[in-house]
Amino acid sequence: MRLAIDGGIPVRSEAWGSSYICTEEINEKEKEYVLRVLDKKRLFRWAPECLTDSETSKLENLYCERLGVTHALAVNSGTSALLATLIAAGIGPGDEVIIPAFTFIATASAVVLAGAVPVIVDIDETLTISPKSILNALTKYTKAIIPVHMKGVPSQMDEIMKIAKDNKLIVIEDNAQANGGMYKGKQLGSIGDAACFSFQQNKLVTSGEGGLIATNNSEIFSRACIYHDVGLLFRDVSKNTVNFPSFPAENYRMSELNAAIGLAQSERIDNLVGRLRKIKQKIIAGIQDVSLIELQRVPDVEGDSSCYVIFYLPSPQITMRFSMALKKEGIPNNVLRSRGFSDRHIYTNWDFILNKRAIYEASNPWSNGWYKGDVEYSLEMCQKTLQLLSRAIAIPLHQNLTTRDCDDAIEAIHKVSNNLLNL
Ligand SMILES: *Cc1c(COP(=O)(O)O)cnc(C)c1O
Repeated sequence: MRLAIDGGIPVRSEAWGSSYICTEEINEKEKEYVLRVLDKKRLFRWAPECLTDSETSKLENLYCERLGVTHALAVNSGTSALLATLIAAGIGPGDEVIIPAFTFIATASAVVLAGAVPVIVDIDETLTISPKSILNALTKYTKAIIPVHMKGVPSQMDEIMKIAKDNKLIVIEDNAQANGGMYKGKQLGSIGDAACFSFQQNKLVTSGEGGLIATNNSEIFSRACIYHDVGLLFRDVSKNTVNFPSFPAENYRMSELNAAIGLAQSERIDNLVGRLRKIKQKIIAGIQDVSLIELQRVPDVEGDSSCYVIFYLPSPQITMRFSMALKKEGIPNNVLRSRGFSDRHIYTNWDFILNKRAIYEASNPWSNGWYKGDVEYSLEMCQKTLQLLSRAIAIPLHQNLTTRDCDDAIEAIHKVSNNLLNL
Protein backbone atom coordinates (compact mmCIF):
# COMPACT_ATOMS: atom_id res chain seq x y z
CA MET A 1 0.00 0.00 0.00
CA ARG A 2 1.24 3.43 -0.94
CA LEU A 3 2.39 5.59 1.96
CA ALA A 4 0.49 8.80 2.68
CA ILE A 5 3.78 10.66 2.31
CA ASP A 6 3.83 9.46 -1.34
CA GLY A 7 0.21 10.45 -1.92
CA GLY A 8 -1.45 7.27 -0.64
CA ILE A 9 -4.40 7.15 1.76
CA PRO A 10 -3.36 7.68 5.41
CA VAL A 11 -4.16 5.00 7.98
CA ARG A 12 -6.15 7.58 9.94
CA SER A 13 -7.35 11.12 9.48
CA GLU A 14 -8.97 11.78 12.88
CA ALA A 15 -7.12 13.72 15.56
CA TRP A 16 -5.03 11.69 18.04
CA GLY A 17 -5.98 12.57 21.63
CA SER A 18 -5.06 15.78 23.41
CA SER A 19 -1.47 16.73 24.01
CA TYR A 20 -1.81 17.11 27.77
CA ILE A 21 -2.44 13.98 29.79
CA CYS A 22 -3.12 15.77 33.07
CA THR A 23 -5.46 18.59 32.10
CA GLU A 24 -7.67 16.23 30.09
CA GLU A 25 -8.64 14.72 33.46
CA ILE A 26 -9.82 18.00 35.03
CA ASN A 27 -13.36 17.45 36.25
CA GLU A 28 -15.71 18.10 39.18
CA LYS A 29 -13.06 17.10 41.76
CA GLU A 30 -10.70 19.94 40.80
CA LYS A 31 -13.62 22.37 40.83
CA GLU A 32 -14.84 21.13 44.19
CA TYR A 33 -11.40 21.41 45.82
CA VAL A 34 -10.68 24.84 44.31
CA LEU A 35 -14.08 26.15 45.39
CA ARG A 36 -13.45 24.71 48.84
CA VAL A 37 -10.35 26.93 49.06
CA LEU A 38 -12.28 29.98 47.85
CA ASP A 39 -15.09 29.30 50.31
CA LYS A 40 -12.57 29.09 53.13
CA LYS A 41 -10.99 32.34 51.90
CA ARG A 42 -7.56 31.01 52.78
CA LEU A 43 -5.02 30.89 49.98
CA PHE A 44 -2.00 30.96 52.29
CA ARG A 45 -1.31 27.59 53.84
CA TRP A 46 -0.06 28.95 57.13
CA ALA A 47 -3.20 30.92 58.00
CA PRO A 48 -3.78 29.79 61.61
CA GLU A 49 -7.09 28.07 60.91
CA CYS A 50 -5.49 26.39 57.96
CA LEU A 51 -2.95 24.27 59.72
CA THR A 52 -5.23 21.31 60.23
CA ASP A 53 -7.32 22.02 57.18
CA SER A 54 -4.82 22.79 54.45
CA GLU A 55 -4.94 21.50 50.87
CA THR A 56 -1.14 21.66 50.81
CA SER A 57 -0.90 19.40 53.87
CA LYS A 58 -3.41 17.02 52.31
CA LEU A 59 -1.29 16.85 49.18
CA GLU A 60 1.82 16.12 51.24
CA ASN A 61 0.02 13.45 53.26
CA LEU A 62 -1.19 11.80 50.08
CA TYR A 63 2.38 11.50 48.79
CA CYS A 64 3.66 10.22 52.14
CA GLU A 65 1.04 7.48 51.98
CA ARG A 66 1.46 6.71 48.28
CA LEU A 67 5.23 6.47 48.48
CA GLY A 68 5.46 5.07 51.97
CA VAL A 69 7.85 7.83 53.05
CA THR A 70 7.89 9.74 56.30
CA HIS A 71 8.17 13.27 54.86
CA ALA A 72 6.82 15.22 51.90
CA LEU A 73 7.06 18.94 51.25
CA ALA A 74 5.06 20.70 48.54
CA VAL A 75 6.85 23.53 46.73
CA ASN A 76 6.16 25.81 43.80
CA SER A 77 7.98 23.88 41.04
CA GLY A 78 10.06 20.84 40.21
CA THR A 79 13.10 23.06 39.76
CA SER A 80 12.59 24.51 43.27
CA ALA A 81 12.24 20.97 44.61
CA LEU A 82 15.61 20.01 43.09
CA LEU A 83 17.46 23.07 44.35
CA ALA A 84 15.95 22.88 47.83
CA THR A 85 16.80 19.18 48.06
CA LEU A 86 20.41 19.66 46.93
CA ILE A 87 20.88 22.46 49.45
CA ALA A 88 19.08 20.51 52.17
CA ALA A 89 21.31 17.49 51.53
CA GLY A 90 24.41 19.63 52.05
CA ILE A 91 25.52 19.45 48.43
CA GLY A 92 27.39 22.57 47.33
CA PRO A 93 30.77 24.13 46.54
CA GLY A 94 33.51 21.61 45.81
CA ASP A 95 31.09 18.75 45.13
CA GLU A 96 30.43 16.92 41.89
CA VAL A 97 26.92 15.69 41.11
CA ILE A 98 26.46 13.05 38.41
CA ILE A 99 23.49 13.65 36.10
CA PRO A 100 22.37 12.12 32.79
CA ALA A 101 23.05 13.81 29.45
CA PHE A 102 19.34 13.49 28.64
CA THR A 103 17.14 15.30 31.18
CA PHE A 104 15.38 18.64 31.39
CA ILE A 105 17.89 21.49 31.79
CA ALA A 106 16.44 22.16 35.28
CA THR A 107 18.32 19.15 36.68
CA ALA A 108 21.64 20.61 35.55
CA SER A 109 20.74 24.17 36.46
CA ALA A 110 19.79 23.24 40.03
CA VAL A 111 23.20 21.65 40.59
CA VAL A 112 25.00 24.83 39.47
CA LEU A 113 22.69 27.04 41.52
CA ALA A 114 23.48 24.93 44.57
CA GLY A 115 27.13 25.77 43.95
CA ALA A 116 28.15 22.27 42.85
CA VAL A 117 29.59 21.00 39.58
CA PRO A 118 27.43 18.82 37.32
CA VAL A 119 29.16 15.80 35.79
CA ILE A 120 27.22 14.82 32.70
CA VAL A 121 27.24 11.14 31.74
CA ASP A 122 25.74 8.97 29.01
CA ILE A 123 22.37 7.31 29.06
CA ASP A 124 21.87 3.80 27.67
CA GLU A 125 19.12 2.01 25.71
CA THR A 126 16.69 2.71 28.57
CA LEU A 127 17.11 6.46 27.86
CA THR A 128 17.98 6.81 31.56
CA ILE A 129 21.41 7.21 33.16
CA SER A 130 23.82 4.36 32.48
CA PRO A 131 25.16 2.74 35.69
CA LYS A 132 28.38 1.91 33.85
CA SER A 133 28.85 5.57 32.92
CA ILE A 134 28.28 6.55 36.56
CA LEU A 135 31.08 4.18 37.64
CA ASN A 136 33.42 5.67 35.05
CA ALA A 137 32.65 9.20 36.23
CA LEU A 138 33.28 8.71 39.96
CA THR A 139 36.00 10.88 41.49
CA LYS A 140 36.91 11.75 45.05
CA TYR A 141 34.69 14.82 44.66
CA THR A 142 31.54 12.92 43.73
CA LYS A 143 28.86 13.64 46.31
CA ALA A 144 25.57 12.67 44.68
CA ILE A 145 23.82 11.07 41.73
CA ILE A 146 20.56 12.33 40.24
CA PRO A 147 18.90 9.51 38.26
CA VAL A 148 16.08 10.91 36.14
CA HIS A 149 13.13 8.65 35.33
CA MET A 150 12.76 10.03 31.81
CA LYS A 151 9.59 9.79 29.77
CA GLY A 152 7.83 7.65 32.37
CA VAL A 153 10.51 4.96 32.49
CA PRO A 154 12.26 4.01 35.76
CA SER A 155 16.05 4.30 36.01
CA GLN A 156 18.09 1.19 36.88
CA MET A 157 17.77 1.82 40.59
CA ASP A 158 19.26 -1.47 41.90
CA GLU A 159 22.55 -0.78 40.16
CA ILE A 160 22.48 2.92 41.04
CA MET A 161 21.72 2.34 44.72
CA LYS A 162 24.53 -0.22 44.91
CA ILE A 163 27.04 2.24 43.44
CA ALA A 164 25.79 4.88 45.87
CA LYS A 165 26.11 2.54 48.84
CA ASP A 166 29.59 1.35 47.86
CA ASN A 167 30.78 4.92 47.42
CA LYS A 168 28.74 6.66 50.14
CA LEU A 169 26.87 8.88 47.71
CA ILE A 170 23.53 10.63 48.05
CA VAL A 171 20.84 9.66 45.51
CA ILE A 172 18.20 12.21 44.55
CA GLU A 173 15.56 10.82 42.20
CA ASP A 174 14.27 13.32 39.66
CA ASN A 175 10.76 11.95 39.24
CA ALA A 176 9.27 14.90 37.36
CA GLN A 177 8.38 12.70 34.38
CA ALA A 178 7.34 9.38 35.93
CA ASN A 179 4.88 10.16 38.72
CA GLY A 180 2.92 6.96 39.43
CA GLY A 181 5.74 4.76 38.14
CA MET A 182 7.33 1.89 40.04
CA TYR A 183 10.59 -0.03 40.11
CA LYS A 184 10.49 -3.67 41.24
CA GLY A 185 7.46 -3.09 43.42
CA LYS A 186 8.66 0.19 44.91
CA GLN A 187 7.12 3.56 44.05
CA LEU A 188 9.45 5.82 42.11
CA GLY A 189 10.39 8.60 44.48
CA SER A 190 10.71 6.26 47.47
CA ILE A 191 14.03 4.59 46.60
CA GLY A 192 16.75 7.27 46.80
CA ASP A 193 17.64 9.45 49.79
CA ALA A 194 15.17 12.00 48.46
CA ALA A 195 13.04 12.56 45.37
CA CYS A 196 11.70 15.53 43.47
CA PHE A 197 8.39 15.76 41.64
CA SER A 198 6.99 18.41 39.28
CA PHE A 199 3.32 19.31 38.85
CA GLN A 200 3.83 21.44 35.74
CA GLN A 201 1.29 20.94 32.97
CA ASN A 202 3.50 18.68 30.82
CA LYS A 203 3.69 16.08 33.59
CA LEU A 204 1.35 13.21 34.41
CA VAL A 205 -0.50 15.21 37.06
CA THR A 206 -0.49 18.96 37.50
CA SER A 207 -1.19 21.65 40.05
CA GLY A 208 -0.77 24.42 37.48
CA GLU A 209 2.79 24.93 38.56
CA GLY A 210 4.22 23.07 41.52
CA GLY A 211 6.55 20.43 42.85
CA LEU A 212 7.18 18.17 45.82
CA ILE A 213 10.09 16.74 47.78
CA ALA A 214 9.76 13.26 49.30
CA THR A 215 12.25 11.76 51.75
CA ASN A 216 12.70 9.50 54.75
CA ASN A 217 15.60 11.64 55.91
CA SER A 218 14.46 14.08 58.58
CA GLU A 219 17.54 16.27 58.24
CA ILE A 220 17.00 16.72 54.48
CA PHE A 221 13.32 17.37 55.16
CA SER A 222 13.92 19.93 57.89
CA ARG A 223 16.51 21.85 55.91
CA ALA A 224 14.28 21.77 52.81
CA CYS A 225 11.44 23.16 54.94
CA ILE A 226 13.68 26.02 56.05
CA TYR A 227 14.89 26.69 52.51
CA HIS A 228 11.38 26.73 51.06
CA ASP A 229 10.12 29.27 53.58
CA VAL A 230 12.59 32.16 53.54
CA GLY A 231 14.99 30.78 56.10
CA LEU A 232 12.74 30.67 59.08
CA LEU A 233 9.57 28.69 58.93
CA PHE A 234 6.41 30.67 59.51
CA ARG A 235 5.04 27.48 61.02
CA ASP A 236 7.19 24.57 62.01
CA VAL A 237 5.63 21.83 59.89
CA SER A 238 8.39 19.37 60.51
CA LYS A 239 8.36 19.88 64.31
CA ASN A 240 12.06 19.24 63.91
CA THR A 241 13.46 22.27 62.16
CA VAL A 242 14.27 23.90 65.49
CA ASN A 243 17.20 21.49 65.63
CA PHE A 244 18.69 23.05 62.53
CA PRO A 245 20.04 26.57 62.39
CA SER A 246 18.34 28.88 59.90
CA PHE A 247 20.11 30.12 56.78
CA PRO A 248 19.27 32.53 53.93
CA ALA A 249 16.62 31.05 51.70
CA GLU A 250 13.95 31.50 49.07
CA ASN A 251 10.18 31.41 49.11
CA TYR A 252 9.08 28.21 47.37
CA ARG A 253 5.73 27.84 49.15
CA MET A 254 2.83 26.34 47.26
CA SER A 255 -0.46 28.21 47.24
CA GLU A 256 -3.60 26.49 48.50
CA LEU A 257 -5.20 26.90 45.07
CA ASN A 258 -2.39 25.02 43.36
CA ALA A 259 -2.44 22.39 46.09
CA ALA A 260 -6.20 21.89 45.62
CA ILE A 261 -5.71 21.11 41.93
CA GLY A 262 -2.65 18.97 42.61
CA LEU A 263 -4.59 17.01 45.23
CA ALA A 264 -7.57 16.29 42.97
CA GLN A 265 -5.17 15.23 40.22
CA SER A 266 -2.88 13.12 42.40
CA GLU A 267 -5.79 11.19 43.95
CA ARG A 268 -6.42 9.55 40.60
CA ILE A 269 -2.87 8.88 39.49
CA ASP A 270 -3.06 5.09 39.78
CA ASN A 271 -6.17 5.04 37.63
CA LEU A 272 -4.53 7.32 35.08
CA VAL A 273 -1.29 5.36 34.86
CA GLY A 274 -3.27 2.10 34.79
CA ARG A 275 -5.09 3.27 31.66
CA LEU A 276 -1.83 4.43 30.04
CA ARG A 277 -0.18 1.08 30.79
CA LYS A 278 -2.94 -0.89 29.06
CA ILE A 279 -2.63 1.32 25.99
CA LYS A 280 1.15 1.04 25.86
CA GLN A 281 1.07 -2.73 26.35
CA LYS A 282 -1.41 -3.11 23.51
CA ILE A 283 0.68 -1.09 21.08
CA ILE A 284 3.94 -2.77 22.14
CA ALA A 285 2.37 -6.21 21.67
CA GLY A 286 1.24 -5.20 18.20
CA ILE A 287 4.66 -4.03 17.01
CA GLN A 288 6.84 -6.77 18.54
CA ASP A 289 7.06 -8.46 15.14
CA VAL A 290 8.44 -5.42 13.29
CA SER A 291 12.03 -6.52 12.84
CA LEU A 292 13.21 -3.10 11.69
CA ILE A 293 12.54 -1.43 15.03
CA GLU A 294 14.19 -1.97 18.38
CA LEU A 295 12.02 -1.13 21.36
CA GLN A 296 13.30 1.08 24.18
CA ARG A 297 14.63 -1.14 26.95
CA VAL A 298 12.49 -0.60 30.06
CA PRO A 299 14.12 -1.62 33.38
CA ASP A 300 10.73 -2.61 34.85
CA VAL A 301 7.94 -2.93 32.29
CA GLU A 302 5.24 -3.21 34.95
CA GLY A 303 6.46 -0.03 36.62
CA ASP A 304 6.49 2.07 33.44
CA SER A 305 4.26 5.15 33.75
CA SER A 306 3.69 4.51 30.06
CA CYS A 307 3.29 8.01 28.68
CA TYR A 308 5.29 7.20 25.51
CA VAL A 309 5.99 4.34 23.14
CA ILE A 310 9.63 4.74 22.12
CA PHE A 311 11.64 2.72 19.62
CA TYR A 312 14.94 2.92 17.75
CA LEU A 313 15.55 2.62 14.02
CA PRO A 314 18.78 1.54 12.32
CA SER A 315 20.08 5.00 11.37
CA PRO A 316 19.41 8.71 11.97
CA GLN A 317 18.39 9.15 8.31
CA ILE A 318 15.86 6.33 8.44
CA THR A 319 14.60 7.70 11.77
CA MET A 320 13.85 11.15 10.33
CA ARG A 321 12.07 9.68 7.32
CA PHE A 322 10.18 7.11 9.39
CA SER A 323 8.96 9.84 11.73
CA MET A 324 7.74 12.02 8.89
CA ALA A 325 6.01 9.11 7.14
CA LEU A 326 4.34 8.00 10.38
CA LYS A 327 3.07 11.55 10.95
CA LYS A 328 1.57 11.58 7.45
CA GLU A 329 -0.20 8.30 8.29
CA GLY A 330 -1.94 10.25 11.08
CA ILE A 331 0.14 9.13 14.08
CA PRO A 332 1.80 12.07 15.88
CA ASN A 333 5.35 11.31 16.96
CA ASN A 334 8.67 13.04 17.60
CA VAL A 335 12.25 12.21 16.89
CA LEU A 336 14.21 12.73 20.09
CA ARG A 337 17.07 14.57 18.43
CA SER A 338 17.10 17.25 15.71
CA ARG A 339 13.59 18.43 16.47
CA GLY A 340 14.18 21.74 14.75
CA PHE A 341 14.67 23.73 17.96
CA SER A 342 17.19 23.77 20.81
CA ASP A 343 15.65 20.99 22.86
CA ARG A 344 16.54 21.75 26.47
CA HIS A 345 16.45 18.03 27.35
CA ILE A 346 19.75 17.37 25.55
CA TYR A 347 23.08 18.42 27.11
CA THR A 348 24.36 19.88 23.82
CA ASN A 349 21.90 22.72 24.34
CA TRP A 350 22.92 23.46 27.93
CA ASP A 351 24.98 26.38 26.78
CA PHE A 352 25.85 27.82 30.20
CA ILE A 353 27.17 24.47 31.39
CA LEU A 354 29.24 23.79 28.28
CA ASN A 355 30.74 27.26 28.74
CA LYS A 356 31.01 27.00 32.55
CA ARG A 357 29.04 30.17 33.06
CA ALA A 358 27.32 31.07 36.34
CA ILE A 359 25.30 34.09 37.45
CA TYR A 360 28.44 35.88 38.61
CA GLU A 361 32.06 34.85 39.08
CA ALA A 362 31.99 34.36 42.86
CA SER A 363 29.11 31.91 42.42
CA ASN A 364 30.82 30.08 39.58
CA PRO A 365 31.31 26.53 40.92
CA TRP A 366 34.03 25.71 38.38
CA SER A 367 36.27 28.69 39.03
CA ASN A 368 35.53 30.24 42.44
CA GLY A 369 38.30 28.26 44.08
CA TRP A 370 36.27 25.63 45.94
CA TYR A 371 36.33 22.97 43.25
CA LYS A 372 39.50 20.90 42.94
CA GLY A 373 38.36 18.52 40.21
CA ASP A 374 38.87 18.82 36.49
CA VAL A 375 35.53 18.18 34.80
CA GLU A 376 35.43 19.15 31.12
CA TYR A 377 32.50 19.52 28.77
CA SER A 378 32.21 19.40 25.01
CA LEU A 379 29.47 19.01 22.44
CA GLU A 380 30.78 15.54 21.58
CA MET A 381 31.34 14.17 25.07
CA CYS A 382 28.28 11.89 25.29
CA GLN A 383 28.35 10.15 21.92
CA LYS A 384 26.24 7.20 23.00
CA THR A 385 23.48 9.56 24.14
CA LEU A 386 23.51 11.45 20.85
CA GLN A 387 23.52 8.24 18.82
CA LEU A 388 20.61 6.79 20.77
CA LEU A 389 18.55 9.98 20.61
CA SER A 390 19.19 10.35 16.89
CA ARG A 391 17.73 6.89 16.27
CA ALA A 392 14.73 7.25 18.60
CA ILE A 393 11.09 7.97 17.83
CA ALA A 394 8.60 8.72 20.60
CA ILE A 395 4.84 8.40 20.20
CA PRO A 396 3.12 10.35 22.99
CA LEU A 397 0.32 8.32 24.55
CA HIS A 398 -2.90 9.53 26.01
CA GLN A 399 -5.19 7.81 28.51
CA ASN A 400 -8.24 8.19 26.28
CA LEU A 401 -6.80 6.43 23.23
CA THR A 402 -9.23 3.74 22.14
CA THR A 403 -8.57 0.20 20.92
CA ARG A 404 -9.16 1.55 17.44
CA ASP A 405 -6.51 4.27 17.98
CA CYS A 406 -4.01 1.64 19.15
CA ASP A 407 -4.82 -0.53 16.12
CA ASP A 408 -4.24 2.46 13.85
CA ALA A 409 -0.83 3.09 15.41
CA ILE A 410 0.11 -0.57 15.02
CA GLU A 411 -1.09 -0.61 11.42
CA ALA A 412 0.72 2.63 10.55
CA ILE A 413 4.01 1.42 12.06
CA HIS A 414 3.76 -1.79 10.02
CA LYS A 415 2.86 0.12 6.89
CA VAL A 416 5.79 2.52 7.17
CA SER A 417 8.22 -0.29 8.04
CA ASN A 418 7.09 -2.40 5.10
CA ASN A 419 7.62 0.51 2.73
CA LEU A 420 10.85 1.68 4.19
CA LEU A 421 12.83 0.84 1.09
CA ASN A 422 10.64 3.29 -0.79
CA LEU A 423 11.20 6.10 1.70
C1 LIG B 1 9.80 19.32 34.24
C2 LIG B 1 11.06 18.79 34.77
C3 LIG B 1 11.74 19.43 35.82
C4 LIG B 1 11.36 20.79 36.35
O1 LIG B 1 10.06 20.91 36.81
P1 LIG B 1 9.33 22.36 36.77
O2 LIG B 1 8.11 22.13 37.60
O3 LIG B 1 9.03 22.65 35.36
O4 LIG B 1 10.26 23.34 37.39
C5 LIG B 1 12.88 18.82 36.32
N1 LIG B 1 13.33 17.66 35.82
C6 LIG B 1 12.72 17.03 34.80
C7 LIG B 1 13.25 15.73 34.31
C8 LIG B 1 11.57 17.58 34.23
O5 LIG B 1 10.98 16.95 33.21
